[in-house]
Amino acid sequence: MTGEVMTVSVATLGFPRIGPRRELKTALERHWSGKASGAELLDVAATLRGKAWAMQKALGADIVPSNDFSFYDHVLDTSAMVGAIPAAYGWQGGTVDLDTYFAMARGAQGEAHHDCGAGCTHKAIDVPAAEMTKWFDTNYHYLVPEFSGGQRFALSSTKVIDEYLEAKAQGVVTRPVLLGPVTFLKLGKVDAAQRAALLPGLLAVYLEVLSRLAAAGAGWVQIDEPCLVLDLDDADRALLTEAYAVLAAQAPAAKLMLTTYFGGLGDNLATALSLPVAGLHLDLVRAPGQLDLVLSRAPASLLLSLGIIDGRNVWRADLENLARRLAPVAAQRDIVVAPSCSLLHCPVDLAQETAIDPEIARWLAFAVQKIEELSVLARALNEGRDAVADQLAASTEAAEARRTSPRIHDPAVAARLAAATPAMARRRSDFAARRGLQAEALGLPAFPTTTIGSFPQTEAVRKARAAHGKGALSDADYDDFLRAETARTVSWQEQIGLDVLVHGEFERNDMVQYFGEQLSGFVFTKHGWVQSYGSRCVRPPILFGDVSRPQAMTVGWWRYAQGLTQRPMKGMLTGPVTILNWSFVRDDISRELACRQLALAIRDEVADLEQAGARIIQIDEAALREGLPLRRGDWQGYLDWAVESFRLTASGVADATQIHTHMCYSEFNDIIAAIGAMDADVISIETARSKMELLGAFADYRYPAEIGPGVYDIHSPRVPPVEEMLALLDAARARLSPDQLWVNPDCGLKTRKWPETEAALINMVAAAQAARAQA
Ligand code: GLN
Ligand code: ZN
Repeated sequence: MTGEVMTVSVATLGFPRIGPRRELKTALERHWSGKASGAELLDVAATLRGKAWAMQKALGADIVPSNDFSFYDHVLDTSAMVGAIPAAYGWQGGTVDLDTYFAMARGAQGEAHHDCGAGCTHKAIDVPAAEMTKWFDTNYHYLVPEFSGGQRFALSSTKVIDEYLEAKAQGVVTRPVLLGPVTFLKLGKVDAAQRAALLPGLLAVYLEVLSRLAAAGAGWVQIDEPCLVLDLDDADRALLTEAYAVLAAQAPAAKLMLTTYFGGLGDNLATALSLPVAGLHLDLVRAPGQLDLVLSRAPASLLLSLGIIDGRNVWRADLENLARRLAPVAAQRDIVVAPSCSLLHCPVDLAQETAIDPEIARWLAFAVQKIEELSVLARALNEGRDAVADQLAASTEAAEARRTSPRIHDPAVAARLAAATPAMARRRSDFAARRGLQAEALGLPAFPTTTIGSFPQTEAVRKARAAHGKGALSDADYDDFLRAETARTVSWQEQIGLDVLVHGEFERNDMVQYFGEQLSGFVFTKHGWVQSYGSRCVRPPILFGDVSRPQAMTVGWWRYAQGLTQRPMKGMLTGPVTILNWSFVRDDISRELACRQLALAIRDEVADLEQAGARIIQIDEAALREGLPLRRGDWQGYLDWAVESFRLTASGVADATQIHTHMCYSEFNDIIAAIGAMDADVISIETARSKMELLGAFADYRYPAEIGPGVYDIHSPRVPPVEEMLALLDAARARLSPDQLWVNPDCGLKTRKWPETEAALINMVAAAQAARAQA
């Protein structure tokens, strides 16, 4: 100890870019539809950035990021920065322009210019968007980097430098954020050998960026390497070692804050600590235990940034507790306190939520509030707890109120869970025995046809819902409207010859929200939007308390729809795992426990549907796969309780009642045993785009039950011809027994329009009939 006073500073790693009222979404969509010029878009973006910087400063952040803003995605920004632009986008080098950038993000279709005269180089362009996938275990999606054969990198966007200077001109000295070179390569479509080959060229661009930033005045740079929380092999670790050795040797002026999040360093800790960087950020929300280990091993010269406020959830922190925990650390060394990860994954500002029950609002903190919390915490550590006694007391009281609130703890739910037996998660008989009873009860033809649930949510449907929400349309009128839509859809399905019908889900705003609103234990925000991809945002429900189902949620609509037809009408439910994975969840009980509560609540709905006469009940688990933990070693634990929750939901029914499930993806190879263990009678999956290849997983596993591999892609308005769907069915038949197969689209039809839906389903029924004729 030198006797000098240690200081605690506050950093943020990234702020929501979409704006408190989704201003960026509006501006982007206006621009894309031709209603706003590029200049107007740039202007909105600059205003949002300026406000975010000023606000974070005002809230007490000492270290404020720049380049956390993006017009679409920060991984795409990185591809643009280094000039990794596939040839198909027609980019000629130089600076990547906004049109090229958006073409990669969204695809582009345009006409050739016919009147440019001789020598015109404009070409007709028709390119699909780059592939998009989930950012680690979040619901944010990034554009997958693509590298060409002889990929050469060159600085092709100065966005990071421009935004640093832009903030500086406004009096805010920022810490620019870069996605680290190794994580960037790991996110790309390349193998280990290619990554190693690409690294030196990539580093040359990073070096240029770092030296330009240093010249512009940046003291620190945040360099994100979240790949450090994944399972890495020796080649990956060697890549990290090489990358940071080069950056340290050749860009010595830039102080790097190596930033990790979404988990602990685990077996990568030694690697992380060996890298020649000036600072290391740790996620202490997901992995609190790593602090002691890092403290015992980190050199005194390494500045530690402690991510102690949850950047992935909406709960207010217990500051007194945190202050006590961090005081001994802060007495030893300078530290930075920060959110666990970028605040990109949080809603912007709780102050906008005037309609949330105040008792519950008091337990919450969104991005703005989280920075305030950090600033109180830093003051407590720097100036002593007395300096912020009131704020600490308020935080303690809120934490205490939440811990003990009867709104959260429902003894009836606890008692029910305690009484749940393993037998409740087992069907009475195995599939082989159920199958005959179901066939008898349902009397379906071979290759039975059905859809996944929703039918087009037309302008009229959305308008009626909005009007009803505002009170402009009475309950009775709204109900009449929904009944008319449902009746029309049911009779149309009958008319075109579908075998198993759905009611169309017109009454549902969203497959999770609809249930959340009827279950106790959830609250909803008005402005709690979180970016999902590009201009798309989601508003996850907040699961705050024990879950129960005060009354039946879907039985009325099911009964009405079944009353219109003799054919089987599916009861449609969202499963517990999906509700959990698409919500902000409690941090005071385990995900597993919260999921079991949801399972019991949905189980009651299954029972009520069966009681009302439903012979088929579909329980969608669209998000089961995306709940997989980042580390392979944690998969089985998750799959065990996720599958058990599904079974607890589904297993209360008679053998003759057919349980369907649906999943919006097709990669099953690595989870097929868990899918089998779900013991659904029928599963529908997304396979049209992969040409049924992925059914191989089911074939290899000898999946015993029935499968509806989607025969057409609902993400596109394109109407597939009969032969195309028939060819897919043939491909499916080559892998599975014909009597296992159902015929259905890839997913629900709510984003489609009626004309294409009608044409596609008519073709689908024809394809099924042709398949039957061949059998
Ligand atoms: N039943 C839902 C629907 O058809 C399923 C949606 C989904 O899987 N994402 O819309
Ligand atoms: Zn789906």
